This record gives sequence, C-alpha cells and structure tokens, in this order.
Amino acid sequence: MSTATKKRRVLLKLSGESFGAGSLGVNPDVVSQIAREIAEAAATVEIAIVVGGGNFFRGAELSLRGMDRGRADYMGMLGTVMNALALQDFLEQAGAETRVQSAISMTQVAEPYIPRRAERHLEKGRVVIFGAGAGLPYFSTDTVAAQRALEIDADIVLLAKNGVDGVYTADPKLDSSATRIDSITYQEALQTGLKVVDSTAFSLCMDNSMPMQVFGMAPAGNVTNAILGARIGTLVSN
Ligand code: UDP
Repeated sequence: MSTATKKRRVLLKLSGESFGAGSLGVNPDVVSQIAREIAEAAATVEIAIVVGGGNFFRGAELSLRGMDRGRADYMGMLGTVMNALALQDFLEQAGAETRVQSAISMTQVAEPYIPRRAERHLEKGRVVIFGAGAGLPYFSTDTVAAQRALEIDADIVLLAKNGVDGVYTADPKLDSSATRIDSITYQEALQTGLKVVDSTAFSLCMDNSMPMQVFGMAPAGNVTNAILGARIGTLVSN
C-alpha cells in the first residue's frame, strides 16, 4: 500500500457568465485572472473543473424563443467547450499543465471523457477541464459538476458564483432583508427551495454525501483560497 499522503481533490464549477463578464463570448482579461488563481493552487491541490456556458447559450432560454429544446441544449454544451479551450489556454500561459475532456466527441480539440484517465491526469498534477456538460440535453453544468465530482472521487464541489457570494435566505437581488447562510443541509436547502444551485445538483450530492461550497468569484483571491480549503461562502452538506 502506498504511504504517500493523498492530496486534496476538488471539483471546481465555473459559471459561463463569469467568462463573459456580463456579455456574450469570452473576456480574455477575466479568464486570464481566473486561470492565474487556479494555477496558483495547482501544485498542492488536484483540480478538476466543470465550465458552464451561460455566456454563449442557455438551452431553456433559446427554447422559450422557439427553438427545439434538445438542439438548443447542444448549442449550450458547445458553448462550454469554447470556454474550456479558453481556460486551457490561459492556464497553460499561467504555467499549469492541463487536459480538456469533452462529453461530446471532438477529438481534434479535446480528449473524450474517460473518468479513469482524468484521475491519472490529476495524480500527475494536471488540471482537468470537463467540457460539453454531460453530453445530454436537459442537464445543467451544476448537476454535471456534482456527477463528475462523484465519479472522480473528489473531496468537495466548489461552486464559484458570479455576482453572489453564497447561499442566501432569499434572492438578495429581490429581497434586501436576505442574509447569507454560513452552512445549511441539503434537506433544508431543498425544502426551502433556494434557487442558487439547481435541485438536481443538490439531490445528487445529498444522496451521495458529497459536500458543496458555494462562494463568490470576487474579490480576487477567492478562487485560490477556496481551492486551498478556506471556509468562505456557504457550506452545504448532509
Ligand atoms: N447543457 C446541457 N447539458 C449539460 C450541460 C449543459 O444541455 O449536461 C446546456 C444547457 O442548455 C445549458 C447550457 O448548456 O443551459 C449552458 O450550461 P449552464 O446553463 O449550466 O451554464 P452556466 O449557467 O453555468 O454558465
């Protein structure tokens, strides 16, 4: 049996919205800053990342405007691959070794999603970025983050949010009396109907005892600190 100390392994979920800084597409300055924060922690923590795609397309929104939902969701998934490639580029510029694995085959730009191989990359110190969500319509990348974390045996799901720094008692944009919750159980979060994370992601983590930390991307340093284990934002667990 190996006596080597096992490194902390995290699954970081980055919303697509943060990549676009509020606009359509990728803002290189923002992605470069996020990449530097991740690279800073990559020597001591094994980091896998699920990237969202909300800065390109959200299937549910396109279907409300007349598109077939399944096709719109595939467009959403392709958006996540563009984000994965942008993040890969800036991570490499920041000195991190990386691999992108895609749930939709596109072998010129990414490896296929192979969980065992992803784990080997992590053990070798590479940052692994999962693109194309689960490869399935009707899923969100929050749910994929929970699923990938379970499959690669991560210690925690770190949900980095744009514009909000944790789970609140109500939507802070709509209710000025809302307060941030320090820790909450999955059961409570589901019963209260808190919307900051989708319910499928919550229940997948609840059923499999996977803790989740929800925190804000800002201020600078938050992403690094959360990866290294700082207790910022809201902890959701059983
Ligand atoms: N998507 C999907 N299946 C998945 C993951 C994502 O169909 O497994 C699509 C879905 O249309 C979603 C879009 O990709 O709206 C972008 O992902 P998400 O909305 O989760 O991105 P985020 O809000 O985190 O930027």
